[in-house]
Amino acid sequence: MRHIAIIGSGPAGYYSAEAAQKKYGEDVAVDIIDRLPVPFGLIRTGVAPDHQSIKAVSRRYEKTNLGNNVRFVGNVTVGEDVSVEELQGLYDAVVLATGAPHDRALDIPGSDLPGIFGSAAFVGWYNGHPDFKDLEPPLDATSVAIIGNGNVALDVARILAKTEDEFAGSDIVGHALERLKRSKVEQITFLGRRGPHQIAMTPKELGELGKLERARPYVDADDFPDIGDDAMLEPGMRKSVTHLRDFLTADSEDEKPLRINFDFFAMPIEVQGDGKVEKLIVEKTALDREMRSSGTGERYELDCQMVVSCIGYRTPPIEGVPYEHGRGRFANSEGRILPGLYCVGWARRGPSGTIGTNKPDGFAIVDAIAEDIGSGGNKEGRKGLDRLFDERGVEAVTFRDWKKIEEAEIARARDGSPREKFTDIADMIAARD
Ligand code: NAP
Repeated sequence: MRHIAIIGSGPAGYYSAEAAQKKYGEDVAVDIIDRLPVPFGLIRTGVAPDHQSIKAVSRRYEKTNLGNNVRFVGNVTVGEDVSVEELQGLYDAVVLATGAPHDRALDIPGSDLPGIFGSAAFVGWYNGHPDFKDLEPPLDATSVAIIGNGNVALDVARILAKTEDEFAGSDIVGHALERLKRSKVEQITFLGRRGPHQIAMTPKELGELGKLERARPYVDADDFPDIGDDAMLEPGMRKSVTHLRDFLTADSEDEKPLRINFDFFAMPIEVQGDGKVEKLIVEKTALDREMRSSGTGERYELDCQMVVSCIGYRTPPIEGVPYEHGRGRFANSEGRILPGLYCVGWARRGPSGTIGTNKPDGFAIVDAIAEDIGSGGNKEGRKGLDRLFDERGVEAVTFRDWKKIEEAEIARARDGSPREKFTDIADMIAARD
């Protein structure tokens, strides 16, 4: 029997568990440990609430949990309730699938002024993550700046721009919907430090921006290279750029109350304001031959009362676990960190790729584990973990408990919404009792 502990119940964690199940059948016991009493990580609190079809992948993870050999062990904080070292003593393999939940720092003067949020916090707020439920973004702002040209930046802009009707069928949490309904936002500005050919926005997501009820995207023709140059782009990127060009030629009659501006070659260098954000100082950039950006010295000011920085994420370090500070992830060689200790997903490779990218990642890490541990050692596995929990009075949340929490969330959903998430850990725990 092999004993595997996976820390983190997001896509990377569940695909790894599925891979272990497929490889070993009943000859493996997998414990998926999570700090929250609810599973699925980024699927629940990262993927946009109006992208329910992406969230549907959680049904596949649920199937993984139906076998007796995979357990969800929720409401357990590794590092407090049990240490990584202890887990290494109990399991043949410990897999860190902790994702990258911390924002990459926006390291410019003034970036600590109230009104500036990292995307982890802002996305967590509208998705009901218990850590960010009290964020209170100033939605009386008329102008919002979004830093970054990736899919998270797009999610944030779309959520800020949608009308109440456009949230029908979504699971945006009630507190966010109420605030967004009263939002005064008239202008959203994407600040991209490079140009249209360097965006990290995918076609489907970019296309959605052109179909919003009360918002319209604007781009500047001068920022684009010759249209012939689009032919050199890989097909997905070419489609994205085509969407951007469509924004250029959109019907000028089709004015809408909310403008979404794309400022390309624009790098914020300072945030200014008297006790809260009032404006960004932005420097124009130029690209070198390697398509890296640098400032040209030309500056302009962007008035804004709220800023969301969507410039990527970092995996939080764990004491004693080798870490690559420059890249914000665990130091690893194809997922191997130390004997018996592995990482997978964003914790392994950094915050890139889609949910599906984690599937081959999960299967690859189980192959590596199989190579390393053979038929398993004499580890105690989950029995030992339960013993530690008994000694320490740790009460884990099981998958069955989660199903009760889920039922309660479904029961309290507003009309047309799949669920109303609990945003307080105490409420989640109470719902399973
Ligand atoms: P991302 O795709 O890496 O985009 C980050 C953006 O921030 C880039 O435009 C980058 O510009 C910019 N940036 C980085 N550092 C900066 C700085 N110091 N100043 C200014 N700009 C800076 O990251 P993401 O948007 O957080 O998304 C993370 C991953 O999740 C991606 O793989 C994404 O596709 C995925 N995701 C997918 C979906 C979906 O499929 N619907 C939704 C959300 C997220 P440079 O290119 O110049 O570095």
